[in-house]
Amino acid sequence: MKLVQRAAWGARPSRYDLAYIASTEGVKVHYEGTYVPKSLADPDAHGACAGRMRDLQASHLANRTEDYSDIAYNAVVCPHGYCFEGRGLHRKTGANGNSRLNAEDYAVCAMLGASGLVVPPDAMLDGLVDAITWLRNSGGAGGRLGGHRDGFATQCPGSRLYEWVQSGAPRPDGSGLPLPGGGAEKGAGPARYRVTIGGLAYGYGATGAHVTAVGEALVDGGFGRHYKTGPGPRWTDADTLNYQAFQLAMGYTGTAPHQDADGVPGEVSLHQLLGYLPGKKTTSSAPPYPGRSAFVLGKSNPAVTVLDGGLVRKGYTRHRAGAKYVPGPLFSENCRRNVADFQRATPALAGDPDGCPGPLTWRLLLS
Ligand SMILES: [Zn+2]
Ligand SMILES: [Zn+2]
Repeated sequence: MKLVQRAAWGARPSRYDLAYIASTEGVKVHYEGTYVPKSLADPDAHGACAGRMRDLQASHLANRTEDYSDIAYNAVVCPHGYCFEGRGLHRKTGANGNSRLNAEDYAVCAMLGASGLVVPPDAMLDGLVDAITWLRNSGGAGGRLGGHRDGFATQCPGSRLYEWVQSGAPRPDGSGLPLPGGGAEKGAGPARYRVTIGGLAYGYGATGAHVTAVGEALVDGGFGRHYKTGPGPRWTDADTLNYQAFQLAMGYTGTAPHQDADGVPGEVSLHQLLGYLPGKKTTSSAPPYPGRSAFVLGKSNPAVTVLDGGLVRKGYTRHRAGAKYVPGPLFSENCRRNVADFQRATPALAGDPDGCPGPLTWRLLLS
């Protein structure tokens, strides 16, 4: 997708903090509904689209009746198929008409008018599919798709876009809209890989009493709505979808396979759900914790190389001296900052992200 982030189009900051939402039922499609010049769709007119975003945001911030904190939409798609980040992922929209509707669905707006540019160009339809897919795969949007007029008295998103939504929002080449959590373009469905935690398998097809225990804990926690039967000892797509709802509620993000909220357990989320980690071994396979004295800034210790290996495997290598983060025995400031990133991203550790590995950081990073 051609994503234009807020900084790239010159967004002003939100006036108030925007409300966090873990997930939505789906996405509602909007149009600007005013006059949009046909010339905006000219192939060489894309340079004007960022300015149009700034104008949209300014008009929403100036609207004292609605008292918007920011541009109302989560994303806006221009005639050239670029997806401009509005409020973005996991932020409640202000565009759907009332607070219930705003909490239920994300809002994506097309730069399409009630006069002037009224026929969505093909690139715009592709961009809308990209935006919806982005909200589903990374923002926890469910499979519902509607127009602003569904459930609210308005003409939005106009007859042409509404018919397109009603027909399932196909791409102009005829390919379908992917299902939520699909990741791949043509509806791959829920994640179907397995992980092993404490010697036990979890994920699609895994079998055992420990799978039933997870299902029962999900039901107890209010995350059982995808079960038609069960929960039972064989892990099905329903287990994955229920587990995903639990992950999203815990603040995990990213619903495509192998992302944090894809419905396949990780050690931390499983511990949060059950209050303990099942398995033959009570400790993980991490090597023994070497003690805090192994991690002194500017000092070398073999344990730091082991620690670095965990940072590289888990992808926490943003702070580095060159193009690539290279494991080594020196406990550098870059290493400390990468550990802090991992701690911030791990709910059990986020309370004290000081970058100094304690026993739990060591175990979670290396298991
Ligand atoms: Zn609308
Ligand atoms: Zn454009």
